[in-house]
Amino acid sequence: MKLRVFLPLLIVALTATSYAQTGSRFTPAMAERADVKQALAYIDTNFDKQVAEWITLTQIPALSTHEQQRAAYVTAELKKIPGLQVSSDAIGNVTARRPGVGGGPAILLAAHMDTVHPMNTDLKVKRLPDGTLHAPGVFDNTASVANALQTLRALNAAKIQTRGDLIFVFTVQEELGLKGMYYWMDHNVAPAMIVASDGALSDVNYGALGIYWSKMKFTAPGAHTLNSRNQPHPARAVAQCITDIYTVPLPPADAAVPAIYNVGILGGGTVVNAISPENWFTVDLRTIDPVLLKSLDAQIVAKCQAAANANHVTFTREFIQRSEAGGRPEALASRLTQPIVQTPMDVLKFVGSPATPVPTGSTDANVGVVRGIPSVSIGRSRGGNQHSLSEWADIASARLGAKQMLLVVIALAELAPAK
Ligand SMILES: [Zn+2]
Repeated sequence: MKLRVFLPLLIVALTATSYAQTGSRFTPAMAERADVKQALAYIDTNFDKQVAEWITLTQIPALSTHEQQRAAYVTAELKKIPGLQVSSDAIGNVTARRPGVGGGPAILLAAHMDTVHPMNTDLKVKRLPDGTLHAPGVFDNTASVANALQTLRALNAAKIQTRGDLIFVFTVQEELGLKGMYYWMDHNVAPAMIVASDGALSDVNYGALGIYWSKMKFTAPGAHTLNSRNQPHPARAVAQCITDIYTVPLPPADAAVPAIYNVGILGGGTVVNAISPENWFTVDLRTIDPVLLKSLDAQIVAKCQAAANANHVTFTREFIQRSEAGGRPEALASRLTQPIVQTPMDVLKFVGSPATPVPTGSTDANVGVVRGIPSVSIGRSRGGNQHSLSEWADIASARLGAKQMLLVVIALAELAPAK
């Protein structure tokens, strides 16, 4: 008798403790609630439709700054879901707000609509017998857009209510230095937490890789070769500057906080028989350490200025894109135990795809990380070769991706009592 009463209690207590210790807002019991079960069943029952929509979306071209057609599709689908407040902003982000009943944190779910593929790319999706889809953009990040639409439909079908608002933002220009997300955050009340859906299923990234892309430009009046002796010389400044940049010391490759830079493109000049009035090159600089990022950037710019002075030319630096660094692992250590990281970890364990969190990342979540908002990116499906013509994604894993998204957002925004 005693045992019969005690044993279930003990099991409940152990389960509760193992989830409570982690700071997770998700419990397996949550997934057993009738309405949540119904929402998960919706994803299962309608998975063929989700895949069909995923294919449709992939075939709508959406190069960064040209997302309008894809945004129009997303907007039309969102407007079919009762209770959503759907809006677009000046840069092109589409926002669907699903109001909570009150008393919980507002959770922003970001899924970028843009791709890196030119508008004339062949986007026809090939579905192979091994259960994969092949097309540019099918993985990064169209799978997330399809998952997000289906998650909202599933929440509505099951009449799930959360305490906090759910704010689903379908962002633009993610691939151009997270521009759409920066714009959204600059023009709206900040949410309590941010979840970006991007990357492979089982990714949980809670940091922000700082990335500076610069164009280093050197200009002078130019001169015919016959008159070129001792004249200001942009091409020579470029040559000297690139050589000098590579003397800027980097941390060792195996350092806890690595950093890297690279000169990728050189340009300028139109004729053989003259000093070019303009020559330039690009620098890609990356590290998670904000102090190191600024210091390496300053040293690189100083090398350019010195080379410009030595060659009597004008130097200007233009940022092609810029996203700030989120911090060294020790600075983010406390994040690891917080609900924003622990909740997706527990959800992934529950859906059968356990994860190890990583203190770096290069997604819309970075915008939150650098502003001190608990932010994380989670995966969408399995797949690979993103940003290439041979991009592919695993179909079955998107079902887990959608369930993961649904459970993460309702756990973080806190489930309201079932009606
Ligand atoms: Zn992406």
